[in-house]
Amino acid sequence: MCGIVGIVDAGGVSLPLYYALYALQHRGQESAGISVFDGDRLRKHKGPGLVAEVFDTEILRSLNGTVGVGHVRYPTTGANLPENIQPFNFEFLGRSFALAHNGNLVNTRELRAAYEQAGQIFCTSTDTEVIANLIADELRHSGSIEDAVRSCMAHLRGSYSVAMVYEDQLYAFRDPLGLKPLCVGTTPCGYIVASESVAIDALSGTLIRDVAPGELVRIDADGITSTQIAVADRAAHCIFEYVYFARADSIIDGVLVYDVRRRIGQKLCEEAPTAADSICPVPDSGTAYAIGYSEASGIPFLEGLMKNRYMGRTFIMPTQAARERAVRIKLNPIKKHLEGKSIVLVDDSIVRGTTSRRIVQLVRDAGAREVHLRVGSPPIRAPCYLGVDMPTREELIASSRSEEEVRASVTATSLHYISLEELVQAIGRDCNDLCTGCLTGCYPVAIKGETDHARVVDFVDTTFQLDLDSFGETC
Ligand code: 5GP
Ligand code: MG
Repeated sequence: MCGIVGIVDAGGVSLPLYYALYALQHRGQESAGISVFDGDRLRKHKGPGLVAEVFDTEILRSLNGTVGVGHVRYPTTGANLPENIQPFNFEFLGRSFALAHNGNLVNTRELRAAYEQAGQIFCTSTDTEVIANLIADELRHSGSIEDAVRSCMAHLRGSYSVAMVYEDQLYAFRDPLGLKPLCVGTTPCGYIVASESVAIDALSGTLIRDVAPGELVRIDADGITSTQIAVADRAAHCIFEYVYFARADSIIDGVLVYDVRRRIGQKLCEEAPTAADSICPVPDSGTAYAIGYSEASGIPFLEGLMKNRYMGRTFIMPTQAARERAVRIKLNPIKKHLEGKSIVLVDDSIVRGTTSRRIVQLVRDAGAREVHLRVGSPPIRAPCYLGVDMPTREELIASSRSEEEVRASVTATSLHYISLEELVQAIGRDCNDLCTGCLTGCYPVAIKGETDHARVVDFVDTTFQLDLDSFGETC
């Protein structure tokens, strides 16, 4: 999972890109980068670490231009190497393009092997470079980005939301299943595409709408146009965006994520009501759920764990020992709120179970009498091949254990996961338009060795259509 952004703005894009990436920091903390087109060539700066660590005023000033893309990286494919940091810049037939990608392809190996057979050399170990090659390949023949993206989509299997600078134009497209989010909005003097609407908010812009699955959007100084490249029989929006990944203040595909989580919290209470002294979130990811649970139960919401805001997500710690130590630094129990109390502890998900176990123990050590764990997603039983860092089945605590075994393992007094039905209802979409691979083991694309309900994708015989009306006005 990563965060991407693309901006066209007559007032310059480096600072807006920086702010937008800052707003998307939760989507990736391994590295950050920005590429802008200065009217002549691409300029870029990227590096390992958080957005604030990678850029400073001087650097941003040097990234002069009115069109650009940015990326924050959360490693899925490709090792943690400097050359894998996005965006990637390319020179091709005298033209420049830069690419930022969020998602994960499942047929990278085949596509890459075909190119390597033909003598092509790759500079990175990412799937993103394969996308760039497919685009360049078609550009060579037709010179049209629309044709290039169409041909690219016909080859790609997996998830991809892409923002791309091609000379002085910005392009953005989303895979036909809409696996990863991507939305478009206005900036003070231009347009923005971003993984989440919070990036638009950060620029005081206005969210226009989501980029549709299979849609290509082009933005330049003349405005914005859209082409529907492909249409799938069903979408497959990542369900985990709603559960964990997206910020609660983001609106994804028309739904405020906070609303979904709060509703799940209410449903958790209906499914598993509990007599307790207080409802306590695991901050921050469990907060909206806990508020919902508290509302539905009438039991007070009271924080029992305070989070150190200046610490990154524990998942990015390199070793298990470091992860475990990190939990204690990250979360400090408020003894007075826990001692002798019966607590409903609410979190969004249990993946490996290691953090959850530590947290339950922390709450117990602080004197809680009972710890009833309530979880905002169903058991995660299968790996994600489509962009979320869900490990192998062996590492997933619920892949081979019953609910009772998980409860015992995390040492909770009781445990309840939300049902898939209620989760889907809270999101408000048809289950068949969501990717539930990590929960059901059934994926929306064909993956070797796994079961699938692969979507059928049709390529629209499209003419390039002006669609300015649906996007509204800008200055
Ligand atoms: P576990 O008990 O499985 O070790 O950790 C569960 C916690 O991990 C939950 O609080 C959840 O918010 C968090 N989590 C779930 N998925 C991800 C992820 O993809 N990345 C990170 N950094 N944290 C995650
Ligand atoms: Mg969490």
